[in-house]
Amino acid sequence: MRNLIRKAPSWIKKPIKYVYGLIPYEKRMGKIFWDTYNFLQESQWWSKEKLEEYQMRELEKLLKHAYENVPYYRKVFNERGLKPKDIQDFDDLKKIPFLTKEIIQNNLEDLVAQNYSRSKLQYVTTGGSTGIPMGFYQDKSSAESIEWAFILNQWSRVGFKVGDKCVVLRGNVVKSANKGKLWEYDPINKDLILSSYHMIDEALPKYIAKIREFKPDFIQAYPSAVTILARFIKEHDINPFPTVKAILCASENLYSWQRELLKEIMKCRIWSFYGHSERAALAGECEKSAYYHIQPEYGIAELFDKNGNSISNEHELGEIVSTGFNNYICPFIRYRTMDMAIKGKNNCNQCGRQFQLLKKIEGRLQEMILTKTNRYISMTAINMHSDVFDNIKQFQFFQEEKGKVFFNIIRKNSYTEKDTEYIYRELNKKLGNDMDLIIHFVDHIPRTKNGKYRFLIQKLPINLGG
Ligand SMILES: [Zn+2]
Repeated sequence: MRNLIRKAPSWIKKPIKYVYGLIPYEKRMGKIFWDTYNFLQESQWWSKEKLEEYQMRELEKLLKHAYENVPYYRKVFNERGLKPKDIQDFDDLKKIPFLTKEIIQNNLEDLVAQNYSRSKLQYVTTGGSTGIPMGFYQDKSSAESIEWAFILNQWSRVGFKVGDKCVVLRGNVVKSANKGKLWEYDPINKDLILSSYHMIDEALPKYIAKIREFKPDFIQAYPSAVTILARFIKEHDINPFPTVKAILCASENLYSWQRELLKEIMKCRIWSFYGHSERAALAGECEKSAYYHIQPEYGIAELFDKNGNSISNEHELGEIVSTGFNNYICPFIRYRTMDMAIKGKNNCNQCGRQFQLLKKIEGRLQEMILTKTNRYISMTAINMHSDVFDNIKQFQFFQEEKGKVFFNIIRKNSYTEKDTEYIYRELNKKLGNDMDLIIHFVDHIPRTKNGKYRFLIQKLPINLGG
C-alpha cells in the first residue's frame, strides 16, 4: 500500500475511502443523482431485450472511448489487431483479455483516459481483502452521485426513501468515543453513527438503549458488527427494534449463518448486496428474494471457472469478471474481481426483473481455506450459527501453511473443556481429514484498518484461476 501511495503523483491530495454514510447528502444528491435514480426506477422493469440493447450501446460507447483515449486499452487492442467495432455482441467481449489487479498495479498511468483534465481525477485505494493493494482513479464530480443513486435504487426495494433515518454501524470512527460517548448524530444525513470499535458486552446495553430512543427506519451495518449486537440481544433476551424495516448489510460478505441469526433475532428483513470499491459490478437482493440481482445498467458481469471457461449453468461456481459502465477515467473492462459466486437463473420470477441472478456470493478468494489435498473450503461452508459456538465470544481462522488452520477464540466465562472437544468434533466434520485444526485461546482478535472483522486471515496466496 505504501508503494502505491508513493507512486501517486503529487497533485493527488488524499485517497478517499468508501463509507457511504460519511459523504453528506448534498454532495451526492444533485442533478446527476436524480437523473440516474429516476432512470433506474424505470429501467429496472424493462424487458430482457431492451436491457441488453442498452448494455450493448453502453459497451460500444465505453470501448470506443477506451480505444481512443486510454493508452493501455489501445495497446491491448492493437496487439490483437482488434478495433472496437469487432465487439458486436457479448460473446465478442472474450476477445479482450482480462484486466487483473496486478496489471492495474503496474500500469496505472496508462489506464487513465487522456481526455480528462487531471483536476477531475480522484484517487481511490483498495485491496485489503485480496492481499493485492491497488489504486485507481474515478471522476470526482460524478462518481459518488451515480453510485449513491444505484445504491438507493436498490434500497428502495425494501422501502427505503430519501431522508429515512438510519443507524450506521459501519466502521466509522466516532471522535468522542475516547471520552465515553460512543455515537454521534449526523444531522445532514439524519444518521445516528455508532462506533463499531467499542462493542464490548459492558457497552452494548447503552448501544441498544440509544438505538431504541433514536427509532431508526433502517440499520446500515457491517454484518460482523450487527452480528455482535444480535448475539447480545439473543443472550439477554432483549426485544428487537420495532421501527426497523430492514438491516442493510454492506462491505462484507453476509454468511448464511449470520443471515439466519439476524433474521431470528432482529425480526426484520435482512438485505444485502454485492459490490466493490472498483465499482465494475453491483448485485442486490430484491423485494422478495435473497438472490443477488446483477444490475444490468451498472455493467456486464461474467462468471468464469478455474480453467477460464465461461459459466452458463445454474449452481456452478465461478469468479466474477466485470465491465463497469460508469468509470470513464479508469475504465474497468473484463476486470477479474477475485470474488467468487454461484450462478443463478437469468431472471427473477419473484419480482419479475429480467436481471441475471447470483445464488450466493462465496466471497473473496482469500476467504478460502486450502487443505493438504488442495481442496478449497469456503468460509460460507462453515456454519457458525449453532450451539457449538455458544461459549465463544469471538473467533477467527488463521492459515499460513497448506493443510493447517488455527481457530483462534476468545472464550466466555462459561467455556469449558467440553466446548473444546465439541468444537474439534464439529469443525473437523466440515474441514475433513486432510486438514489439521488447532484451537488457540486468545484475548484479542484484531480488526482491519477499516474496522471490519475477518473470519479468516489467509496468508497463503489463493488463486483459483492461475
Ligand atoms: Zn427479484
